[in-house]
Amino acid sequence: MALLQISEPGRTPDPHQRKRAVGIDLGTTNSLVASVISGTARTLPDQSGQHMLPSVVHYGSEGNVVVGEAARAMAVDYPENTLASVKRFMGRGLSDVKEDSSARQYRLSDCDDGMVRFETSAGDVSPVEVSAQILLALVDRAQETLAGTIDGAVITVPAYFDEAQRQATKDAATLAGIPVLRLLSEPTAAALAYGLDQSAQGLVAVYDLGGGTFDISILRLHEGLFEVLSTGGDTALGGDDFDEAIVGWVSEELGELETDRARYREMLREARAAKEALSSNETAQMRFSWTETRLTLSREKFEEMISESVTQTVRTCRRTLRDAGVGLEEIDAVVLVGGSTRVPAVREAVALWSGREPLADLDPDRVVATGAALQADQLVGNRPGDELLLLDVIPLSLGIETMGNLVEKIVPRNSTIPLQRAQEFTTYKDGQTAMAIHVVQGERELVSDCRSLARFELRGIPPMVAGAARILVTFQVDADGLLSVTAREEGTGVESRVQVQPSYGLREEEIANMLKASFEHAGGDKVARQLAERRLEAGQLLEGLQAALDVDGDSLLEVAERETIDREMLALQKMLDSEDDREIKRQTERLSRASEVFAGRRMNASISVALSGQALDSLDKELN
Ligand code: ADP
Ligand code: MG
Repeated sequence: MALLQISEPGRTPDPHQRKRAVGIDLGTTNSLVASVISGTARTLPDQSGQHMLPSVVHYGSEGNVVVGEAARAMAVDYPENTLASVKRFMGRGLSDVKEDSSARQYRLSDCDDGMVRFETSAGDVSPVEVSAQILLALVDRAQETLAGTIDGAVITVPAYFDEAQRQATKDAATLAGIPVLRLLSEPTAAALAYGLDQSAQGLVAVYDLGGGTFDISILRLHEGLFEVLSTGGDTALGGDDFDEAIVGWVSEELGELETDRARYREMLREARAAKEALSSNETAQMRFSWTETRLTLSREKFEEMISESVTQTVRTCRRTLRDAGVGLEEIDAVVLVGGSTRVPAVREAVALWSGREPLADLDPDRVVATGAALQADQLVGNRPGDELLLLDVIPLSLGIETMGNLVEKIVPRNSTIPLQRAQEFTTYKDGQTAMAIHVVQGERELVSDCRSLARFELRGIPPMVAGAARILVTFQVDADGLLSVTAREEGTGVESRVQVQPSYGLREEEIANMLKASFEHAGGDKVARQLAERRLEAGQLLEGLQAALDVDGDSLLEVAERETIDREMLALQKMLDSEDDREIKRQTERLSRASEVFAGRRMNASISVALSGQALDSLDKELN
């Protein structure tokens, strides 16, 4: 990934130009949003002062959607329409999640896209849609606090999330209209929050026990960058399981196995409250709406219930450390993350295993969002002093050459990878059967100012009138930064593709220089682009008109009419080399007007040949 290290050009934004960047911890149980305000990363509370937004969404039958605490409160009365822990279902099919303990709370169905759907009385909803609702609520909160639209967000995902799960997370952000700077792994975010990136080097173990998942990651800091040496964990182990364990105990105590869903949810809610109380008290009381019986749970009893799970996490820690090939004594810091690390027995177990006091000064619930906010702040360019960033984004824009030496950007720089973007183009000339695709990289508007990456051809386009063919050009960049470009004629399906390494041979300072140049030339490039577009338009009009005149000029035009058109054509022809785009535009319009009568007559004669107005994204080079 060394190729993807870029340095932000040294812009010096004044305070008013600070961009609004947020870090979002899209958690299984709780989600948070944080931002750097006056130099400090902090989580943002809602209007009632709550920082944590329960990751719960309620779908009302009238189409109303409720998110957060209010939704959580509705879980008991409307179990099927109130969706929690959907992170477990992100990018997952029905067969993947059947066994999951949270799956039985819902009516699930399969969908062709491979992801499960929740059947609610408001219709089927996907985990992506549910997550988008959570993201929207957080972004609304942030936009209110920061008084403006968010420029970019870093969203965290567990280190073990696979491509489908990451993609689903990005899709949720897209659905919510959030510009994603990148996805960041949760342990890295936690390490950033503790400022561990500031030391020269070192090894960090991040122990994250949340609501739905356990995640242990061994990170190595090297020259300011975190490398994930190994990860381990359990996607089905977390505070939810502690709650379930308590529910099991409650069922035994009450002598009833709860099959009623609403009662089951109530038991869960009570169990969670008791568990959280036990982190600071020795006993907790539990009561239920349908029975007079009260239960008292002691911390000791609770610890006994969860001891197997806790031991399990420590076993995983040992194995993960072994996988990383490092000894315990080499670890420089152990970080506690996740609400469940508030459980004293968990802290003790981690301390015992690691032989040191784990870092827990920061609120374990907020540490991930805080780190993400720091990273977001850096990525939007609010911290020009920072130099190298390890980015899984493309460092420079990718595009293709279009008519008139212009670059059509298809993938903007800093897009997170892997990615796929497609855009449709068309032919420029009648009967064109081949098209040259020139892939370029850079921020400038003109091809000659960008870097050429690859050229290839699409052949076998059936002859059609100009503009009728539909050529879909697709850019795909995989996680390793490998680019492949495909061009396909949609009608016939003929296809051609090429693979390129986008950053190949570009050293960091070259990338920085290209970016700098694009900022410096931004104004000039725009003028150049306008001029090129005007010339292109003019050329297309001239060419189209000439072709039409050759066929119908004699039969449809009076001599005087023909003379007028010829005169205006000549004038425009002469003007093509002019540097004044407005002049070219004026003359193009004059010629259009002069040829209107002719165009009308041709139309009447029902001969459909496009006279002008070709789409600017037609491709330039015709090959035959
Ligand atoms: P996630 O990352 O899965 O969204 P969090 O880090 O927010 O989860 O952790 C949520 C879990 O932490 C829940 O199971 C919750 O009950 C538990 N939790 C929160 N506070 C406490 C506490 N004081 N004691 C024990 N568990 C707690
Ligand atoms: Mg978490």
